[in-house]
Amino acid sequence: MKHEKISRAEAPKPNYDFTTRAIHSGYDPADEQGSLNPPIYMTSTFIGQNAEHVGDMFAGECEGHFYSRISNPTLDLLERRIADLEGAEASLSAASGMGAISATLWSLIKPGDEIIVDMTLYGCTFAFMRHGLSKFGVKITHVDMTNPQMLNAAISDDTKIVYFETPANPNMRVIDIAAISVIAAEHDAVTIVDNTYGSPYLCRPIEHGADLVIHSATKYLSGHGDVIGGMVSGKAEVIQNIRLFGLKDMTGASMSPMTAMLLMRGIKTLPLRMNRHCESAMKVALWLETQDQTSTIYYPGLKNSPFHDVAAKQMSGFGGMIAFELNGGKEAALKFINALNLIHCAVSLGDAETLIQHPASMTHSCYTPEERMEFGISDDLIRLSVGLESASDIMADISQAMQQL
Ligand SMILES: *Cc1c(COP(=O)(O)O)cnc(C)c1O
Repeated sequence: MKHEKISRAEAPKPNYDFTTRAIHSGYDPADEQGSLNPPIYMTSTFIGQNAEHVGDMFAGECEGHFYSRISNPTLDLLERRIADLEGAEASLSAASGMGAISATLWSLIKPGDEIIVDMTLYGCTFAFMRHGLSKFGVKITHVDMTNPQMLNAAISDDTKIVYFETPANPNMRVIDIAAISVIAAEHDAVTIVDNTYGSPYLCRPIEHGADLVIHSATKYLSGHGDVIGGMVSGKAEVIQNIRLFGLKDMTGASMSPMTAMLLMRGIKTLPLRMNRHCESAMKVALWLETQDQTSTIYYPGLKNSPFHDVAAKQMSGFGGMIAFELNGGKEAALKFINALNLIHCAVSLGDAETLIQHPASMTHSCYTPEERMEFGISDDLIRLSVGLESASDIMADISQAMQQL
């Protein structure tokens, strides 16, 4: 029996909260035979009405899906939901965070252009820019963006993009999105923020003046360590250009509809999970401060963090990521990681499981040792992704491992 479509599209839409939109935005079960969850359109291509119709879609003269490298209804729903949550006009999904980053940058730059980046970047983003794009005549300039005046001094007419992460992976630097966006806009440069650590629940960079927001959806958006994915959000025209050039032609890094479904499942609990991540990370950070074996704790939620005020200004919580150093340096760090029982040594983040890793030898080993030194990623640093287990169990595991040092 065919399910009769009952359209509620005419009904006035209340201004739902973020938490409600994370579950419902863009989807009406009546459009899909009453299915509570949206179907997964597991198809590579779409059949047109006739040859002219398919041709028109190719020419961009009429809307519609024709090939899933470019668009697909399941991806489209995820993209509209993320755009809604980020406060953006449009979003684009990609096969990974790196897929989103590379598709975006290939779409916006040409030889001779300059990208100004902060001192700290996720290892593969750093490698893509410094070891990759620079081979094609793109100039990569590092500026300490924790001091916006430094950007003001460095920016020029050649600067096409200003790019940073906040909080930055791995050392938790927080950058003032509004201050940087104003300076970039004065020079017609595009501000791109990697918001992976914050998630749209804690921080929405577009509200603070950024042009584009990027996510490794692999992390908090998924939250369950079961997919690799990426998102970029911003003005509809810019996102369409990234879709039809950076994604379609330059990278082909399209997301699977199955991944989109799993991401939408994860995003339903994003607010719940982020609240818990924030609460537990705060407890763990405060407790780490009281331990004799630790030397420095990097967490913007701590009152003595140099980034506390700017984080409080642009984030509604301080997130689930902590970095710290132990007395005894790198040797102690590796010994400590090996002594943990509950906490796993792995390089992703934002999952239910608490994960720990050593950036210098793992996620940030794409930097040469000299580059790590130059950009402040110490060999001693440990990165902790505080999971959803009980905070006291997490602290007990850290405590027993530290006692073995
Ligand atoms: C993991 C990560 C990326 C890369 O994302 P993938 O999904 O692994 O390709 C980019 N930026 C940040 C901040 C990350 O943590």
